[in-house]
Amino acid sequence: MSEEIAVYQQVKKRLSAEYPENQTILDRCGMKLAGFFGEASLAYSLSHYEKESFRIFHDLRLYDGKNFFQLDFLILTSSFAAIIEVKNIAGKLYFDVDHHQLLREKDGITETFSCPLLQVRMHKEQLNWWLYRYGIHDLPIVHFVVISNPRTQLKFSTPTLSAQVMHQKKLYFALQDTNHTYTKEYLDIKTLKKLQEEILREHHPIRGTEVLKNLGITSDDLIPGIICPSCDRPPLIRLHGRWTCEFCEEIFKDEVCEQTLKDMHLFYENKVPLAQIQDFLNLSSSQVTKRICKKFNIPVCGRGKATRYVLDAFDR
Ligand SMILES: [Zn+2]
Repeated sequence: MSEEIAVYQQVKKRLSAEYPENQTILDRCGMKLAGFFGEASLAYSLSHYEKESFRIFHDLRLYDGKNFFQLDFLILTSSFAAIIEVKNIAGKLYFDVDHHQLLREKDGITETFSCPLLQVRMHKEQLNWWLYRYGIHDLPIVHFVVISNPRTQLKFSTPTLSAQVMHQKKLYFALQDTNHTYTKEYLDIKTLKKLQEEILREHHPIRGTEVLKNLGITSDDLIPGIICPSCDRPPLIRLHGRWTCEFCEEIFKDEVCEQTLKDMHLFYENKVPLAQIQDFLNLSSSQVTKRICKKFNIPVCGRGKATRYVLDAFDR
């Protein structure tokens, strides 16, 4: 699981109900998670026709020299590149190309979203620039927006848009058509392989702290403590060497801390002072916190006040 998905899941569980824009942020997390679900389904169907000449990258994040850009899918062949943006949106969708808007009608409510076609075109420019810097100047790049929910109705201001925006099932045929249209070879197998390696090397997965920043929140807005594995509510209380849930009354051993230490690694920098771990585990004693850190073999660096605990070991 990527750090990004884990953060959205954790924010849904931990964002304080008192936070001013609580619902807006939870909705954004919900949409993101639905999007990942749609991507996973497309990744599965694409894996069936992956072959030597058809290289597929999922959830790629590259730097164009100024900004990072994230591609849901990139397909690379010797004759073309295809960028695929996946949206998991239910209801009736109307793509208004003149106003760069996407209107969604659901349960009698009409909402406006920024148009994913505009986004994917922007990504195309960024990829073009990225490839240019790598010395590839004329590889054709095509783009598609895939709506992963098969029940979503699609309507377009311009009928030709249906060649760019489609349901998942149609993508297979769209890629076949592209394969037949672009027959000139721009990259030989050796260059393609080198490019694939370069792309993987240049891929920078987004860090949890950046995801929080994009959501406009900080780790302080999240409820600390161990989320009860039985009833999903925080926090567990440590009493007489055992962790107790005051909601469902389940009792756990110290091993239950592992997930929360992993969560800390999402929300904080890699190196944190003991007090931060103590606060996040909801412990009153620094000695107990130290013992737990020892139990999990968390490496320590620095001395005295500068002592830090290294959470790298909890990388996902
Ligand atoms: Zn519980």
